[in-house]
Amino acid sequence: MTLRDRLAWISFPVLMGGFLSLTAWGLAQGFEPAPLGATLTVLNFFVILLVEQVLPRNPAMNVFRDRQSVNDIGHGLLLAVLGRPLGGAISIWLMVGLAQLRGTLGLEGVWPAAWAFPFQLGLGLGVWTFCDYWIHRSLHTFPRLWWFHAVHHDTPQMHILKSGRQHLGEELFSALLKPIPLLLLGAPPEIMAWIGLWIVFDGNLVHSNIDQRFPGWAHYFLPTVQLHNLHHSQDRRYQDSNYSGSSAIWDVLFGTFSHPHRCPLGELGIEDSPVPRGFAAQLFFPIRQQWSRADETPQ
Ligand SMILES: [Zn+2]
Ligand SMILES: [Zn+2]
Repeated sequence: MTLRDRLAWISFPVLMGGFLSLTAWGLAQGFEPAPLGATLTVLNFFVILLVEQVLPRNPAMNVFRDRQSVNDIGHGLLLAVLGRPLGGAISIWLMVGLAQLRGTLGLEGVWPAAWAFPFQLGLGLGVWTFCDYWIHRSLHTFPRLWWFHAVHHDTPQMHILKSGRQHLGEELFSALLKPIPLLLLGAPPEIMAWIGLWIVFDGNLVHSNIDQRFPGWAHYFLPTVQLHNLHHSQDRRYQDSNYSGSSAIWDVLFGTFSHPHRCPLGELGIEDSPVPRGFAAQLFFPIRQQWSRADETPQ
């Protein structure tokens, strides 16, 4: 086994484990979750960008040679300056409203606060990924939602910038729905902070162009880059599968799992994509589609 092969086999555990360990260390040191999360998010981005240059999975894919990278940065910045703060405001508004609803529904005290922290985190991730699965599946099922999500899928390249290439409308839709079950169950802020960072780390890795290798069984449990590449395939059989970004368990349970060893990865992106090339046009594209093509079946 060459040195490169060895690095490819340890890249996922080192990067994911390393950043989760940094999170645990930072919180144990008493750092505030919000600035710690922002710092680790930026650090994670630059570390992955650097590792992509020295250990690329596909040498033909690169941030610096992709003509859509500028648009990716535009969508990512829009999420950072508008989407995330608006999403945060939505979550706070939801928290207040749901706190009252929890009382009405008799859900107070439901969250197992006495459990050891890893079990609480496991429960939180389970609930979050379940919601993430169904929201993502709905983005592929309903045409009016698909046009927003198509902006994320409309890319023949995969690298770190694709993680943030999300239409602002999709981000707000997700921010409105995804936290509801956890907030209703009364998940504490530390659990929400951990989940927020966990999905940044695994979201960046599954979109990255870092060579990451896994044994066949690992695809059933871990957020592998091979699973998410299949999801970005032009082939509709695979594009409408592997919805879970964080664990394939829900795909296995609900019959939408495609194992990378059994499914050949072809071209990525959207076949005959209707998504325009320009940034402003991409922003208006899903809104324009609501009137012109909303009755069509999803891509
Ligand atoms: Zn998708
Ligand atoms: Zn993706």
